[in-house]
Amino acid sequence: MEPFESDRASLPRNMIENSMFEEEPDVLDLAKETPAYPLDPDDMVYEPRSSRLLVRGLGENDMDEEEEDYESSARLLGMSFMNRSSSLRPSASPYARQEQSSSCTMPSNRTLLLGVFVLVVVASVAMVIYFLPKCTLTKEGCHTVNTSMELIYPRATNGELFPWTSLRLPVYVQPVHYDLLIHPNLTTMTFQGTVSITIDVLNDTKNVILHSSGLQITNVTVQDKEVKKLEYQPWQQIALKFPEDLKKGQTYVLTMEYSANLSNSYSGFYNSSYVDKGGNKRVLAATQFEPLAARKAFPCFDEPALKATFLIKIKRETGYISLSNMPKNQTVELSDGLLQDEFEKSVRMSTYLVAFIVANFTQINQIASDTLVSVYAVPDKVDQLDYALGCAVKLLKFYNTLFGIKFPLKKLDLVAIPDFLAGAMENWGLITFRERTLLVGNHSSLMDKQVVASVIAHELAHQWFGNLVTMKWWNDLWLNEGFATYMEYTSVEKVFPELEIGNDFLSMRFKSLAEDSLNSSRPISTEVATPEQVEEMFDSVSYEKGASTLLMLSSTLTEEKFYKGVSEYLEKYRNMNTDNEDLWNSFPQEEYNVVDMMNTWTLQKGFPLVTVNRTGAQVSVSQEHFLLKVNKTAKSSDLWHIPLTYVNDSCSTSPNCTQLFLLKDKTATFKVPKNVKWMKFNFRNNGFYIVNYGEEGWRALIEAVKENHEVLTPEDRASLINNLFALSRLGKLSFKQVMNLLVYLEHENHTAPLTEALYQLDRIYRLLDKRQDLLASSMKNYILNLFVDKMNSQSWEQDLPLSKQELRSALLEVACRYGQKNCTDRAEHVFLQWVASNGTERIPGDLMKVVFSVGAQSNAGWEMLLQTYTHSIVDADRRKMLAALASSQDVRKVLWLLQESLQGSYVKTQELPLILHTVCRNFAGHLYAWDFVKENWGKITQKFPIGSFAIQDIIMSTTSYFSTERLLWEVCRQCLHSF
Ligand SMILES: [Zn+2]
Repeated sequence: MEPFESDRASLPRNMIENSMFEEEPDVLDLAKETPAYPLDPDDMVYEPRSSRLLVRGLGENDMDEEEEDYESSARLLGMSFMNRSSSLRPSASPYARQEQSSSCTMPSNRTLLLGVFVLVVVASVAMVIYFLPKCTLTKEGCHTVNTSMELIYPRATNGELFPWTSLRLPVYVQPVHYDLLIHPNLTTMTFQGTVSITIDVLNDTKNVILHSSGLQITNVTVQDKEVKKLEYQPWQQIALKFPEDLKKGQTYVLTMEYSANLSNSYSGFYNSSYVDKGGNKRVLAATQFEPLAARKAFPCFDEPALKATFLIKIKRETGYISLSNMPKNQTVELSDGLLQDEFEKSVRMSTYLVAFIVANFTQINQIASDTLVSVYAVPDKVDQLDYALGCAVKLLKFYNTLFGIKFPLKKLDLVAIPDFLAGAMENWGLITFRERTLLVGNHSSLMDKQVVASVIAHELAHQWFGNLVTMKWWNDLWLNEGFATYMEYTSVEKVFPELEIGNDFLSMRFKSLAEDSLNSSRPISTEVATPEQVEEMFDSVSYEKGASTLLMLSSTLTEEKFYKGVSEYLEKYRNMNTDNEDLWNSFPQEEYNVVDMMNTWTLQKGFPLVTVNRTGAQVSVSQEHFLLKVNKTAKSSDLWHIPLTYVNDSCSTSPNCTQLFLLKDKTATFKVPKNVKWMKFNFRNNGFYIVNYGEEGWRALIEAVKENHEVLTPEDRASLINNLFALSRLGKLSFKQVMNLLVYLEHENHTAPLTEALYQLDRIYRLLDKRQDLLASSMKNYILNLFVDKMNSQSWEQDLPLSKQELRSALLEVACRYGQKNCTDRAEHVFLQWVASNGTERIPGDLMKVVFSVGAQSNAGWEMLLQTYTHSIVDADRRKMLAALASSQDVRKVLWLLQESLQGSYVKTQELPLILHTVCRNFAGHLYAWDFVKENWGKITQKFPIGSFAIQDIIMSTTSYFSTERLLWEVCRQCLHSF
């Protein structure tokens, strides 16, 4: 599965978002102005009591006397209203935002350094405590999960004892084959089904335990005899009870008839709708089963290791088509006027990969290596399918060759679903996508195409990693997701070099290092039991750290040996299930003990900090856990087998220059020629570790880069910048050393180092700004001084190579957000031209977001954008408009957007995480976003599964810019009690 993709679509760094603009917001006078958008004034009241913003219908949050943090939040929220009338008394309020003064002078470097240090420490503490381990968000809130299995039989729904006591199914019943007949009724939004499951019994038993959730099972028979059924809802299990033993070695057929509502969420068998060009509402039904929702569509043995074959039949009305994993065998006309599509018997597969869709989609297709590849979308968007079809055909051929195993199905469908929560889902032969990740309009930018190509590359890689060879249990989800993420970057790099995906891969690794440095991180391979824990596995560790460790292995072994091992693994375990060790055992062990080495990366959490000290020819290296933690005295004794790569001043930019030292112990020494001036470790940042060179080592490196930055590759320069910031955050280096290196940026033109420096600095500025810290404007000036020439020299018209687009959009988004006049004037000009052309004037895709975000700050601009958003049929553009709408400084507009998104009327609920993500970056909006999430926690968790990537994104978005102790304790208290 491709996780929720709110960030990926935007920018190279995916962190630099449009949010606020530096001018004081032009806030409406709520009492006087009536907006053109459909806002019901009764929905909102600005309650004068404590300046608290209350939302009728969304639940008032009574202020506890003790909850001063709420009050602080309210005051900050109230502030944006104060600002409206406070132009005459800009500094009267203690909560007034710091105005940027043109006469503001830079504080001394020392003051800035001290301020930044204090800030990053507080921010780190907040994040670390917030992400306390063993804290699992559940519907009741965030609390420690008790996973111990009490050996007491639970009570079934009818009060009888339920004859099973584990979340995992018994191993002595194995499903072999499912016959499934499904009939969705798109008028009543219900469905009926009949499933017959052939099982092998491995031990004598009187009970068969399987999964079912939310299904009304009306009739259960085994070999045509009626059987008693018990249900235990908390574990989503049913038990079929037999008067006599089912005998070991025998095969039985369980048949169940059932019905259910089509779900209103995004999992199971759910209903979706869209409005066509003619204004008519169209409905459809689609599935999303990974990880635990097949049980919501049919009773089944819903664990990845319990593979079986499937023969699926779907009843539908004329006017719709149906799709499933396999090619259609025949269509039968039924006596009631319905049609019944019958699909071929499937390959052996896990339940989470089963899929079916009933809709009125249209398609285009092409044959590739004997497989019919088709791309489907709603009929109005049929002209947006060509790019995806081309990508899929090329990538399918590429993977067939690379893995040495041909895609085993005769057809492969890629389908854009109007309502879809994840980025995409790899159902075998029937891959489903968000429209954003599959459709490409005529004027889409290279950045939009990059998203589509990489998501297709990810999902196609799953057809081998995940579908053909599947993890035994969800603890090793990374075998699916780490591999697919690795292939997503490496295959696009090879097949579509014009998409220049290398910068994004590097940014992804930096992001993964940052997340894995928290105490709340986890080993890549982690024990999981509860549904919430399974959902939580879809995180940065499974995807990004998994991919990063594979890159490190591939760089160490050589790509050729790496893929040889991969092909052997796929061949050996095809149609089977594996664990972590099976993969490592598939690689050659002669040169390196791959099993021992890679287990240190997958079975323990975190990553190492390597400290280098050099005296003449003698180099000593040591390792420790790089951990941002509350208790600085806590020690970790973890050791990693680190394939340390290094280059030096005599040869530094080619892979041939690289030397490798395997550091297995806490410390080690090795020799280099005495005349070496400087050394750079972790060539191109292909390893998953951070390096501290010590005072002298840093001095030599920084001097070398300042003298001629091209002595290092762009990746190595970005790596130095990243490591310096990380070490400064850890308190190992002063911020002065960071600033000392950044001086060289004047000569830097490559995207990776510039965007990395900009991201890191902007992150500190945002934290300062949210704290209303006096240093915020100084930090802003510092950043502008560093980048202003590059910001001003960006073109606004022509299309550029992709990495230049990434750089341009990153620089201009920051420039406009900081209120740099050149930028805002130009953006406004482009926006007005676009408005004058009634939305037909073309804006380069990478600049849309910055232009729209400037335009959205006026009432007229915001309303124009909303109208265009409503009617546009290019989803990539729509999301840029939505992000711009959410960047408004008008709290009322932001509130309306959040409400609408939660209700799913004007704005689909799938966009709520994106809106929150943007809103919480606003000065006025970030505290409100947190309040909104708390107040609507029940509704939000009805739509997004607890623990899911979307929920993780929502929580992280709404709290990641908190940096005060008060807010820290507010989050902790909320976490410990309930939402
Ligand atoms: Zn995936």
